[in-house]
Amino acid sequence: MNSSAKEKVFYGIPASPGVARGQVFRFLHGKVEVPKYEVQEADQDSEISRFEDALSQTKDQITKIRGEVAKNLGEKEASIFDAHLMVLEDKAVLDDVVAEIRKSGDNVEQCLHRVTQRYIDYFSQLEDEYLRERSADLKDISKRLLGNLVGATAAGTAFLDEPRILVSEDLSPSDTASLDGDKILGIATDAGGRTSHAVIMARSSGVPAVVGLRQMTDQLSEGDTLLIDGFEGIAIVNPSETTLFRYGKVGQSRKRMKDLLLEEASLPALTKDGEKVVFLANADSSDEVRKSNDHDCQGVGLFRTESIFLRKNEIPSEDDQFNEYRQIVETANPLPVTIRTLDLGGDKILDSIGREKEENPFMGFRAIRYCLRNPDVFLDQLRAILRASTHGTVKIMFPMVSGVGELVRAKEFLSTAMRQLREKNIEFNDKIEVGCMIETPSAVTICDLLASEVDFFSVGTNDLVQYLLAVDRINNEIAYLYEPHHPAVIRSLKRVFEIGKEYGVKVTVCGEIAGDPHFLPLLLALGVNSLSAASPMLPELKFFARRFTMAEARKLTDHILEMKRPSEINQSLKNFYEERVSDLIK
Ligand code: PEP
Ligand code: MG
Repeated sequence: MNSSAKEKVFYGIPASPGVARGQVFRFLHGKVEVPKYEVQEADQDSEISRFEDALSQTKDQITKIRGEVAKNLGEKEASIFDAHLMVLEDKAVLDDVVAEIRKSGDNVEQCLHRVTQRYIDYFSQLEDEYLRERSADLKDISKRLLGNLVGATAAGTAFLDEPRILVSEDLSPSDTASLDGDKILGIATDAGGRTSHAVIMARSSGVPAVVGLRQMTDQLSEGDTLLIDGFEGIAIVNPSETTLFRYGKVGQSRKRMKDLLLEEASLPALTKDGEKVVFLANADSSDEVRKSNDHDCQGVGLFRTESIFLRKNEIPSEDDQFNEYRQIVETANPLPVTIRTLDLGGDKILDSIGREKEENPFMGFRAIRYCLRNPDVFLDQLRAILRASTHGTVKIMFPMVSGVGELVRAKEFLSTAMRQLREKNIEFNDKIEVGCMIETPSAVTICDLLASEVDFFSVGTNDLVQYLLAVDRINNEIAYLYEPHHPAVIRSLKRVFEIGKEYGVKVTVCGEIAGDPHFLPLLLALGVNSLSAASPMLPELKFFARRFTMAEARKLTDHILEMKRPSEINQSLKNFYEERVSDLIK
């Protein structure tokens, strides 16, 4: 810890509740900047020593990662790291770097970059597939070596000895999927909004996070200590004794709050006047399903299948997917699991499928649009889901539907997948319930037309807010405009619930507002049938539900429907909440 360093406070966006303190771990993804400067001849030996140190540090890291992968995934998967270790011992490459330092008089990072780039260019042009793939190993290794030379870590957390606070300019969902949750105390990023997928993943695993801290990462050093407050959206570098004392108090009151919530965790989910509230969990792993089972939760309302693709960083086979789905379905059984078909695109990018970069990825080749144009990927997934349907109760749901045509075509694919399974005498539930997400403004407008095609709706408010208000959900420059309290959002929800009721189509809300206790009375009074939220949020939602009656919720909602401004709506939901849970938040 850098005890003499001065305290510095940064304000951002609260993204996942909780307070965490620890040493900074700078996470670099994508491209590592390559510094360039001249090195005097007399200093070239020490430049070469830096190179040797970075080599041995990198070797240690990779050996450690290899060990963990072998333990968790098996020898076959671990063997890819042998190729990385071989690169680090390749005399031709190492000698070339040393020669480049002597010849050019530049710093080691520049020389390493130049030499490895030469090899990468050479390998990537070769006919031989095996040799061509070595260029990817070389790229990976040079990125990690560079990261170590510039004092940051290029990828992965597997080699960390102790848990730290991860700081990064930005974090993609595939970065987040590659992290070992046990090694991360908290997350702080310069960019990002409250509903970016990396943040949603942090919230699901209960890791505190603050995003939108702008240029904080530039001002941090490796030895700094960081305290992050995920309730208020604050990051404090090298906190003073006074700050630590204050946060010690926050910690105590959080502990008291947790104990209070725990006392009621196993009680049924009811409002104060005994109306049943159906809570479901947004879960991406059987572990998360197990955790949600303790909260009188009625099943999994949203399983984002792309999480498997991102974790593997490739398109998994039908069998691999079947095994993952079956595991979740069996863990939840007898409760239902709603499996959403692939929603890649937007901020969820899979490098391995090599797609063109898009100008407007959130409005681009995403989710159902991608699946309808990639029949093999779609059919593999549909068959895997159908096969899992005999292991419990499974529902299937299509994301980002914007018109009836898309939904009908998706259902035709489902029929094809069923026919293919029948031809092979493979069992599945042919009465599987089919639903669609309502997360585009057009889907809200035509939800009466969509209703006759499905058994249920699930409102994805994370996207609905961004598309309805034309505010990118991951852009922190305009995060203040991303307002789920906007009357346009509330009117849209009202419409979908009313149409759902009229057509006998049950409606769930599975966007992040379902996990925000402030919205609970409003959503219930507007007529939602169930709420699907990250499981760490369930105890607080239930605690609050038990403290208001439906008559009170309806009265509040009548007022809100008259309001014009998001800020007024926000304030009245907040007041309603705080008046009723004062024992929890005092
Ligand atoms: C949503 O958009 O609200 C949703 C639940 O889907 P995702 O966050 O995965 O886009
Ligand atoms: Mg969505």
